[in-house]
Amino acid sequence: MSYCVECGKEGKTYDSLCAECFDKRHKLVRVPEAVDITLCAHCGAHQRGANWAHVDRPDAIRHALEGAVEVDTGAQLDVLDVKLREEDERNLAAELLIGLKVDDAEFRREKRTRIRIKQGVCDACSRQKGHYFEAVIQVRPPEGEVEEELVEKATEIVHQEVERMGPEVFISREESLHGGVDFYLGSRGAAKTITKRLQSRFSGEVTVSSTLQGRKGGRDVYRMTYLFRFPAYQAGSVLKIADEPFQVVSIGPPIVIADLATLQERTVPASTLKSARKADARTLMAIIVSRDEKEVQVMDPETMKTVTLLRPPGIAEDAEEMLVVRTAEGVYPSYLQSIN
Ligand SMILES: [Zn+2]
Ligand SMILES: [Zn+2]
Repeated sequence: MSYCVECGKEGKTYDSLCAECFDKRHKLVRVPEAVDITLCAHCGAHQRGANWAHVDRPDAIRHALEGAVEVDTGAQLDVLDVKLREEDERNLAAELLIGLKVDDAEFRREKRTRIRIKQGVCDACSRQKGHYFEAVIQVRPPEGEVEEELVEKATEIVHQEVERMGPEVFISREESLHGGVDFYLGSRGAAKTITKRLQSRFSGEVTVSSTLQGRKGGRDVYRMTYLFRFPAYQAGSVLKIADEPFQVVSIGPPIVIADLATLQERTVPASTLKSARKADARTLMAIIVSRDEKEVQVMDPETMKTVTLLRPPGIAEDAEEMLVVRTAEGVYPSYLQSIN
């Protein structure tokens, strides 16, 4: 049986001392008076050596404290509880409750320090501020047309996707031109993914081109341009074939259109759309006055007169409104009752 050289107590010893005497004799842990951390002024990323970690502030502080706490040889950092109190924008008082293990004995220490926050600019943000870009997404309306609403929707999607992809992906510049928008992106891969997303949402054509920018690390570096052009027709578009109004139900494949005068659907070849012309039509919401199985009476939103229309599919029994198509010739039911 061993005994403590300090108090003579018999039992397990640590460095010839009982746990109690060991606790009194050893500091076990040292914490500097202040711990400096550098956070990106723009996105809050935490500088770790040559790199930047995109973590939130509590994670950054914890990581810095774990690095700053010095533990005696033979002791192990077990628990680190941190209580923070903001003193001002750049300084936080930190109370640390530290649990340590030496062999099978557990010790606790309470320490105080101050977190000093320094500001920097991370690589992603400095590239962004420097108008850095690797790819351009060009969103364009159909040839010879104006489609402000579609361009706005596409812009929304581009912003959402960039947001979703995290702080490494950013738009360094955005320019409206030729009825569309150019987005300068910091990442080629992101630009490709976002363009694919636009195409799956709206159909349309994508043309990819690249220009050589130079060489980096022995490799050619290209700047990519993804030209996304909306298709001439979308689901919901109204067009005229032999002077009759049709609505595009699906741009397919297969392409499906509906005759607005009869509400009959039919599948047509792509050449039909190519030879059709776009009708001067607007899709509007109209109040339903009454309905039966085959017909609905609605208030023409333009003239406020009640008109009788064929009842399109998808009108619920308690629906109070429905979509109608207004052309120069009159009002038609919209075959599609939900249009994105
Ligand atoms: Zn002792
Ligand atoms: Zn940043």
